[in-house]
Amino acid sequence: MPILCGHRLRDSTLTRIVDLTLPLYADVPVRPGDPGVVMNELRDITTEGYRLTHLSMGTHTGTHIDAPSHIVEDGDTLNSISFDALVGPCCLVNVAGEPESSIALEDLIIHEDAIRSAGRVVLKSGWAKRWGTPEYYRSSPSITMEAARWLAGEDVQVKLIGFDMPTPSVEQETDIHKVFLEAGIPIVECLNLENLIQSYFEIVVAPLPLRNREGAPCRVLGLLNRSS
Ligand SMILES: [Zn+2]
Repeated sequence: MPILCGHRLRDSTLTRIVDLTLPLYADVPVRPGDPGVVMNELRDITTEGYRLTHLSMGTHTGTHIDAPSHIVEDGDTLNSISFDALVGPCCLVNVAGEPESSIALEDLIIHEDAIRSAGRVVLKSGWAKRWGTPEYYRSSPSITMEAARWLAGEDVQVKLIGFDMPTPSVEQETDIHKVFLEAGIPIVECLNLENLIQSYFEIVVAPLPLRNREGAPCRVLGLLNRSS
């Protein structure tokens, strides 16, 4: 269902837009080992008549997308991620949010019909509440291998998977990434789903167009029915 053509955006049935992006600011805590977020004011409005900021950060900081080449040696880069994966119907599934909790197949399979019909899924654990603190990067919930394989496997094969945590799995980080990325399924990490309660919505994921890179910061929006 194409939803971004002008007439649908002006349609009264799609009038609420929710920002699903975490705020980025200088010195926000980043994953240990990653480069920090630096924003230096290079031009001063009082002396030079305009403002301009020098920005420096890792490509996997804040709300961002992982392309297959992030983990897969000869995997596709951002360039080959289709708009069809990034824009369209999406299913939100609430999952356990306690530190070190598991997101199991049973948590997802009860939403099988909604996941299949949307083709894109985001998992809401509530972890985004910790954004801006060092705790954000510690002990976040993890999807199990069985659940990841079910989402990525031929039977379901979502087009896009999103998490409101910094990684899909703490313990099996590389292996779980591979399950999705080897199947060509882009992963959106560090979503902010706190203001989203509707289980079915339209998602718009807009990564920076970094040529041939393995990931990029994204603006992510949720388009909701007016009644939601
Ligand atoms: Zn990443």
